[in-house]
Amino acid sequence: MNASAVSAFDASVLIVGAGPTGLTLACDLARRGVSFRIIDKTTNYFAGSRGKGLQPRSMEVLDDLGVIDQILANGRFHLAFRAYDGTTILGDYDMHEGRHPTPDVPYASTLMIPQWRVEEILSLRLAEWGVQVELATELVALEQNDDAVIATTQKGDTQDQVRIKYLVAADGGRSFVRKLLNVGFEGETWKDERMLVGDVRVDGLDRDHWHSWPKHKDGWIALCPLPSTEMFQFQAQIPAQEEGEPTLATFQQIVDERTGRSDLKLYDPTWLSLYRANVRMVDRYRDGRVFLAGDAAHVHSPAGGQGMNTGIQDAYNLGWKLGAVLNDADPSLLDTYEEERLPVAASLLGITTKLHRQIFSDNVKEMRRGPETLQLELNYRASSLSQQDDLSSTSLRAGDRAPDAPLLDHAGNRVRLFDFFRGPRFTLLSFGRHDLAGLSKVRERYQQNLRIYTIDDSPSEAVADNTHLADDQGHALRAYGGEGGALFLIRPDGYIGFIGGDRSIDFVEAYLKHI
Ligand SMILES: Cc1cc2nc3c(=O)[nH]c(=O)nc-3n(C[C@H](O)[C@H](O)[C@H](O)COP(=O)(O)OP(=O)(O)OC[C@H]3O[C@@H](n4cnc5c(N)ncnc54)[C@H](O)[C@@H]3O)c2cc1C
Repeated sequence: MNASAVSAFDASVLIVGAGPTGLTLACDLARRGVSFRIIDKTTNYFAGSRGKGLQPRSMEVLDDLGVIDQILANGRFHLAFRAYDGTTILGDYDMHEGRHPTPDVPYASTLMIPQWRVEEILSLRLAEWGVQVELATELVALEQNDDAVIATTQKGDTQDQVRIKYLVAADGGRSFVRKLLNVGFEGETWKDERMLVGDVRVDGLDRDHWHSWPKHKDGWIALCPLPSTEMFQFQAQIPAQEEGEPTLATFQQIVDERTGRSDLKLYDPTWLSLYRANVRMVDRYRDGRVFLAGDAAHVHSPAGGQGMNTGIQDAYNLGWKLGAVLNDADPSLLDTYEEERLPVAASLLGITTKLHRQIFSDNVKEMRRGPETLQLELNYRASSLSQQDDLSSTSLRAGDRAPDAPLLDHAGNRVRLFDFFRGPRFTLLSFGRHDLAGLSKVRERYQQNLRIYTIDDSPSEAVADNTHLADDQGHALRAYGGEGGALFLIRPDGYIGFIGGDRSIDFVEAYLKHI
């Protein structure tokens, strides 16, 4: 059917795929009041763990979406990695030794939690907004013109046509949409680097260590307890010449041979799979009104636990931009999604490939994870959305992650900056000297989309209302600088969009006007 033949829109956005990427986007759009649908071809949610490491930056996103308590309750920090040679313990390693929360970084190390649990928590959150994933519903065709996308979905024998303004392909590594639109997916498949992976119960191992036998001649094997379950994730390297059949019998045989123990019993598998290393990314994130996100845009080694996390942040970057453009912002804002996220995917492939090489070369001493895996240092400094006027009082740059800080509110309650960032709007922080007339002009004009807070080192008479925060311990000043007066405009996704001096309110206004 010709796209122009159908007129009314069924929804503004169709999200294809309800993995961590699609669900994060769905939650973000739901809280913005955007009309959307989310479909997945699967009939039941996937039972396997797959990703099991949630990075600090993703936890900040999930905090903003209102599910961090459930996430923390179901996960575990600082799970010690225990290496063996046969029955001999070689040592215990904390991949995140010395990493603990600080005033500016509330989540400091990787949380172990099965991916399906993260998806479950996001689905339940989505249901609170009255949205259900439409399961057993597959995207089978799409076409687009300047005004709309017409998506054909199939449920059982019934096909439907859905007219939307934008479609987001969060349909995973084998993305149907990416192939249909002929988007390039350059990279390599490392045919000989395969592993068996699955979730099983194991008798004979404690649940306080990630058990690993890195030195066996046929390759390494690891059994990681999955928090909030009774399962372990099994991973074993497969020699190039071997078949690598994903059956419980093969898993048990590998455990027996490579651990040298006869007391470890595997049973009740919920997922048995053979993984092949693929390292690829798209050459563009956008085709007209269609956006690619998550594994649909980049696949890489699971080493370092980056995939699910990068998908969550693709979605978080795209969500506020879609929300803004559907609310009449300049559509060119959507071009910044590719501008900001494509370089992240490129660097991700480098990080995970390096870790993959370390793991596949049995170098146990290299177990500590580098800070880049936490995704806190990731920034958009080079983006056209990152602007600055006066940097004399700060070492931060526009495009950096906005740090957290404990403060006091006007009633003397202990609060965090992240409490004030939470929600779908921009936040303007005014430090030190305040241009009160300028702030109130901008507040009036952008009240729907902007919150403004003044920050001083002690409660201030001049601005004693609920928009004033006291930096009684100096944490905000240490994290931001801003001594003598500065403005920081924080984007809805927690990155600094604009930095300027206390007199640069006109620049803030121009920035917001553009968006
Ligand atoms: C062994 C292993 C370990 C890993 N460890 C980690 C880790 O520790 N940390 C980490 O961050 N990542 C890890 N990953 C990677 C992580 O699992 C993926 O990056 C993540 O699943 C990507 O999420 P996604 O939502 O983009 O895609 P997916 O989770 O693949 O979801 C895509 C969804 O789209 C649906 N779909 C596909 N086609 C259609 C269609 N035509 N119509 C409707 N629906 C469709 C699918 O049914 C699926 O539900 C690991 C992966 C593996 C295999």
